[in-house]
Amino acid sequence: MRVTGIAQREAWLARAMPGVEEVRPGLWSVPVPIPFSPLRYTLSYLVASGPGVIVVDPGWDSDDGWQALTGGLGAAGATTADVTGIVVTHVHPDHHGLSARLRAACGAWIAMHPAERDSLPVRVWDTAKSPARDLRWLLACGAPAGIAAELSGNGPVMEMLLAMPEPDVLLEDGDLVPGPDRRLRAVWTPGHTPGHLCLHEETEDVLLTGDHVLPRITPNIAQVAHTDDPPLAAYLKSLDQVAAYDSAEALPAHEYRFHGLADRVRILRAHHDHRCQEILGVLDRLGPSTVWQVTERLSWSRGWPSVKGFMRRAAIGETAAHLEYLLERAQVSRVPGTPLRYSGPPAVAAATP
Ligand SMILES: [Zn+2]
Ligand SMILES: [Zn+2]
Repeated sequence: MRVTGIAQREAWLARAMPGVEEVRPGLWSVPVPIPFSPLRYTLSYLVASGPGVIVVDPGWDSDDGWQALTGGLGAAGATTADVTGIVVTHVHPDHHGLSARLRAACGAWIAMHPAERDSLPVRVWDTAKSPARDLRWLLACGAPAGIAAELSGNGPVMEMLLAMPEPDVLLEDGDLVPGPDRRLRAVWTPGHTPGHLCLHEETEDVLLTGDHVLPRITPNIAQVAHTDDPPLAAYLKSLDQVAAYDSAEALPAHEYRFHGLADRVRILRAHHDHRCQEILGVLDRLGPSTVWQVTERLSWSRGWPSVKGFMRRAAIGETAAHLEYLLERAQVSRVPGTPLRYSGPPAVAAATP
């Protein structure tokens, strides 16, 4: 893997915001800040299309974010009035958060994959019923009651999540993003989210990878309470799909751009293999275990005690996703009961506290 966003990486290391860059003729990257996040910014992309501009992943909804996005449009010689379309790789708030404000300012359409539309908080989250479902799921994972209560519920950002808008345009795998003079093709890469899209700019051979492939960190692949769809097998399959774009420069939604997608895919695959082995090792030592018990014993970059709040929730989801993946492959089995336990083959009979 070779870093091509040299200035972006230097800024990353200096803990500064990178500048707006024209990475290809008529294609700009614009860092849009994410408040209180170690990711620090989303790289929003502006793609000239005929007389207008398509914005990919407008970023987190804040006044600073809005300033950054409109400042980026200015650097590209455009204004919000020139924006004809908005494409979101997925509906996480650091990507789709600003879409409503941008659409209100310019009347542009919003495009996403149909599976992503179906996962919008406004579609899957019922403020009356979902907190109880969420709590049940966390308890089934074996989270202690106090922690499950703390991690479930409507949460302070729920209002913002529920305000994220529905799309006007649906993009299936292989569809071209509407607009003149530009061949921007949707590549469906489920895993990080069910309808995640990468976008291949065919003339310049660049792949906007969203959160699917990032140069430094592994995206969170997590089981969530509202669906039984197993995300890890889908993610690994989607990784293979983008490895085929090895000639393309990768323009990710965070960190910095790079070349060598096939190489990066190998590393990400190895990470998940390693994680599965680590989980099998825990089950071997501990016997039948809950998702929570396994999660506590895995290695986390900052150590488990410092994984709190939203990150803790993401960690539980990630462990659950790996356990379900191992279950699909008959490498672990489920032990009936509440909370749910998993055991590695051969089934271990010992009970755990
Ligand atoms: Zn994301
Ligand atoms: Zn993101």
